[in-house]
Amino acid sequence: NGGAIDPKNLKVKLVLLGDSGVGKSCIVLRFVRGQFDPTSKVTVGASFLSQTIALQDSTTVKFEIWDTAGQERYAALAPLYYRGAAVAVVVYDITSPESFAKAQYWVKELQKHGSPDIVMALVGNKADLDEKREVTTQDGIDCAEKNGMFFIETSAKTADNINQLFEEIAKRLPRPTA
Ligand code: GDP
Ligand code: MG
Repeated sequence: NGGAIDPKNLKVKLVLLGDSGVGKSCIVLRFVRGQFDPTSKVTVGASFLSQTIALQDSTTVKFEIWDTAGQERYAALAPLYYRGAAVAVVVYDITSPESFAKAQYWVKELQKHGSPDIVMALVGNKADLDEKREVTTQDGIDCAEKNGMFFIETSAKTADNINQLFEEIAKRLPRPTA
């Protein structure tokens, strides 16, 4: 599943899925570089960025983060992208019900075609835009619960809950037994 054998130093492939414009690249950039640039057309590109985090039990988790360069528009390419992923982060924009519907589509796809032990997170991004909110927090909670996913609302702009997202994912990874 993309996990390395050393149980103290995990290496995992993480993919981001979700509508174009929901903030996937901004989440990655915030997590990996601590930056938010509202003007640049952020595209991490075809390959991946990596970031390692340390957990309390001295385990480290190296995330190899695959961001799309807009291929989210081509559903047929998706299986190539999430093949072998240990983690899928499905992102929607809390101001966009369409993006929430699309997130639910991706969850179903991953359940059908993803690795059986994939860890999935549902992320409601742009939480700083609360005055434009159109997807309630409860809608997110219900969807995640129904699908056995971890749920969190984030803002790549303010950095709210970005590190928490990746820490919670790390805690939920299946541990290889030594
Ligand atoms: P992607 O297509 O899913 O990778 O989306 P991007 O990361 O390129 O972001 C799309 C747009 O949303 C950009 O204009 C970002 O500046 C903006 N954006 C991303 N995250 C946030 C956020 O948390 N809050 C706000 N207000 N805007 C965001
Ligand atoms: Mg992007």
